[in-house]
Amino acid sequence: MVISKNMERLVAGSSTIRKLFEEGLQMAAEVGADNVYDFSLGNPASPVPHEVRDAIEDILDNTDGNIVHGYMKNAGFNDVRKAVADSLNRKNGMNYDAEDIIMTCGAAGGMNCIFRSLLGLDDEVITFAPFFGEYRSYVCNFGGNLVVVPADTETFQLNLAALRPLINEKTKCIIINNPNNPSGVVYTEETLRKLNDIIVEAEKEIGHPIYVIADEPYRELVYGGQTVPYIPNIIKNSFFLYSFSKTLSLPGERIGYMAVSKNIDYYDEVISALVVANRCLGYINAPSLFQLVVARCLDIPANLEFYDKNRTLLYEELTKMGFEVVRPDGAFYMLIKSPTPEEDDFVAMGKKYHIILVPAKSFGCPGYVRLAYCVSHDMIKRSIPAFKKLAEEYFK
Ligand code: PLP
Repeated sequence: MVISKNMERLVAGSSTIRKLFEEGLQMAAEVGADNVYDFSLGNPASPVPHEVRDAIEDILDNTDGNIVHGYMKNAGFNDVRKAVADSLNRKNGMNYDAEDIIMTCGAAGGMNCIFRSLLGLDDEVITFAPFFGEYRSYVCNFGGNLVVVPADTETFQLNLAALRPLINEKTKCIIINNPNNPSGVVYTEETLRKLNDIIVEAEKEIGHPIYVIADEPYRELVYGGQTVPYIPNIIKNSFFLYSFSKTLSLPGERIGYMAVSKNIDYYDEVISALVVANRCLGYINAPSLFQLVVARCLDIPANLEFYDKNRTLLYEELTKMGFEVVRPDGAFYMLIKSPTPEEDDFVAMGKKYHIILVPAKSFGCPGYVRLAYCVSHDMIKRSIPAFKKLAEEYFK
């Protein structure tokens, strides 16, 4: 083997979702794209807002090309960071300065910078099931171990009762993803306040900070007028990670940011490390054109209606057919309880009707499958008869 042991592990566990997506493409080549219902990937189908295109054109037409496409500070353009800080201050009553914002290659890039900065060999990062499966690779990149708190399948809120015994001297970070991929559940302020109490007490005991990573690419995707609590207002030692991948439908452009409050322990050390991590991991800086674009699009609302229509139709139809579905209040995913004990069998049965679902064991939640409903409404409507046939396999 020429590849490293560490990489061998990552390749072996390589993304189930991507494999399923490729199977979907193969199926489409065989039976026609209109007859395949691919719910595997979180690739948003809502059109890119016209403001994004307008901003691209205006920037390219009216700004010095050497500035648009050149190197800059590793943390990003100052005026972009200032615009992000002002927007967060306005929306969440924070007190960020431009220097507290680091523009990143999406939320994934930001999280890798955090782990590069904080993790030593065998340090631990805790997350709550169900969780975004890529966390495992990001932690593994830096020799850390991901520790998973089992899901509370009654409420799908954070399973706080199971958290405390998992915290020890090696615990460096806790990842909270709100709204959650894959459950679509929104963690309440009450839950997050209880989490804070546990962390504050544990920090005293272990003698060092536990940094919470608020991973919030779906922050604006909440339905029914709910709001998502802003974690840095509740938990002192927290990083806020945001991405424009989902709300502006720009996942391929790799643009996001992290906000670091001056209140966190060891602020000066940590912020310098994060900026250097952005450089030494090879990101250098977040994509320059898209930094300038998103700075002009900070107040563009997410296309909630697009996803809500899909959510409502699917939830109603699937529950009517007899499936047990976790009702999502945010993001654009839902979990369906597998009608057979082994969810792989259910996923295989789905493929018989050209429905592509993802086994949720890859999200630490065996016995469920994930459905990404960030697809066209037309595809959702076309998929209903196929789901009916799938349901008939189980509920006759
Ligand atoms: N975190 C969660 C929970 C996600 O679902 C995703 C992408 O699907 C990411 C992070 C990574 O997003 P980005 O494209 O911003 O790197």
